Amino acid sequence: MNNKKTIIVAGGGPAGLMAAWRLAPHFRVLVFEKENTCGRKFLVAGKGGLNITNSTGGDALFSRYIPGGFADEALTLFGPQQLQDWLSALGIPTYTGSSGRVFPIRELKASEVLRRMIASVVSRGAGFYLNHRLVSFDQEMKFIFDTPDGNKVVKADYAVLAFGGASWPVTGSDGKWTNMLNACGIETLKFQPSNCGVEIDWPPAVLEFHEGKPLKNVELSVNGKTSKGEVLITACGLEGNALYPLIPGIRQSLAEGEVPVLTIDFKPFNQPAQLMKRLGNAKPGSSAYLKCFGLSPQALAVVKALTGKEEYLDCGLFVSKLKGAPVKIKALRPLEEAISSVGGLVLSEISGDYSLRKFPRIFAIGEMLDWDAPTGGFLLQACFSMGYFAGTALLKREGFGSAFE
Ligand SMILES: Cc1cc2nc3c(=O)[nH]c(=O)nc-3n(C[C@H](O)[C@H](O)[C@H](O)COP(=O)(O)OP(=O)(O)OC[C@H]3O[C@@H](n4cnc5c(N)ncnc54)[C@H](O)[C@@H]3O)c2cc1C
Repeated sequence: MNNKKTIIVAGGGPAGLMAAWRLAPHFRVLVFEKENTCGRKFLVAGKGGLNITNSTGGDALFSRYIPGGFADEALTLFGPQQLQDWLSALGIPTYTGSSGRVFPIRELKASEVLRRMIASVVSRGAGFYLNHRLVSFDQEMKFIFDTPDGNKVVKADYAVLAFGGASWPVTGSDGKWTNMLNACGIETLKFQPSNCGVEIDWPPAVLEFHEGKPLKNVELSVNGKTSKGEVLITACGLEGNALYPLIPGIRQSLAEGEVPVLTIDFKPFNQPAQLMKRLGNAKPGSSAYLKCFGLSPQALAVVKALTGKEEYLDCGLFVSKLKGAPVKIKALRPLEEAISSVGGLVLSEISGDYSLRKFPRIFAIGEMLDWDAPTGGFLLQACFSMGYFAGTALLKREGFGSAFE
């Protein structure tokens, strides 16, 4: 007879898998995933290079998260170094690329990384139940799952909910769980896109020749916040790493009914006087501008599209546009395309150990909570950190505390 307490982990993404890994040696851990495989969003994340964490530490790491402080303790207990050590112990070595982004070594595809993580959770004793969607729970800790064989009821001592957010719903992270929480009197917020593209009305001259091309080494600004890097010209507007850190400010402006104006500096490393000097006696115009300012054809097309003829032919005015071309943003791209979402479970519903205030034996972790962070490995890091932290908190409650400091 197994006397171990039963813990349900609902949601088989990175957050749920980490919690299950942490708890499995000490409890009867049952992982329930509503899809026919775990970690589908994790696999999608791996398509563009699985940026699993970031080498940034301390305050610089904490500062990447909104609201400030919500994950500091989890990130301190299980931060980027601990995550890399953990991955390494699972046979997943990592390397650090540009801007401190950390990836599994190139030989390991995301599917293999996921396979090794799940194998480790299984080897520690957890059971997996696929095609099981949690549809309700109550104060008696009775959990009901919708399964291909009808509804199944499972009683548990504790539960960890890790349902994910609502971006890329085709992966299974569809955000539909909010109704279940609302029925239990738990407040949730509407999901909104984050780390997503923005909509801009490009003139045909930009789209016809330059859709899909990058604007490299630009500095973008919105409402006093700036970000350097690369963005891609899309049929709908712009998307890319340089844009993502500005999305929270853009989202807020849009919510307040404003039309956010994105300023693009195409030459962030040059002062206007240096640029003026470069033109020398060359006649202002396309070929001179391309050559003297080292612009890509797509950058020139965008500046041209945002400049009147008179400005375009006046070197001083052209240089000022080069240093700050204003583009009106109409909207954010939809959740279906976004890398992550904000909204979901309101943070005031959880205690410092990620347990629900109204259901203290149920924890909620990962992207299902209402927080934000830019790309760069910060999203996955926080999900793993919360999984480890909530698991540790639960172990401590059950008296396993000191052995796990
Ligand atoms: C295109 C793309 C690229 C990305 N790239 C990166 C990157 O490079 N670096 C990075 O840090 N982050 C990246 N992310 C974000 C990262 O993948 C997510 O932040 C992370 O997967 C969230 O983990 P999670 O465990 O909280 O939720 P998820 O990974 O979303 O997992 C939640 C799981 O819960 C299941 N579920 C939902 N409801 C129920 C229910 N009622 N019952 C049972 N199961 C349920 C879902 O099917 C899902 O499998 C990317 C995301 C996308 C879409």
